[in-house]
Amino acid sequence: MTDDDAITIAINDVSYPILCGFCEAPIARRAEPDADREEVGCVLCGNWANAQEAGQLAVEFAKADAQLQLNRLARDATKSSSLLTFSGDTEHDRAHRFIVHFNI
Ligand SMILES: [Zn+2]
Repeated sequence: MTDDDAITIAINDVSYPILCGFCEAPIARRAEPDADREEVGCVLCGNWANAQEAGQLAVEFAKADAQLQLNRLARDATKSSSLLTFSGDTEHDRAHRFIVHFNI
């Protein structure tokens, strides 16, 4: 792996680049003289985390986002129904430091 590789997480066997949660730019590795500590993040926002943490946060976002995408489908499906009603969140209720763009 080289420093030019995108930093990604796999969702359903597809790799998605991890993006900054604030400005949605793809995150990059920060060159560290100390090889034990690999930091990744957004140069523009100063949003840095160790590589493992950034990956975990992106996965957390992906899980939350998948649920919200499902909720939006359910909301839209029940809009025209007089029998079914939808209740639930359709937007993220908090900021995520690292995100991915994907569709369920
Ligand atoms: Zn950013």
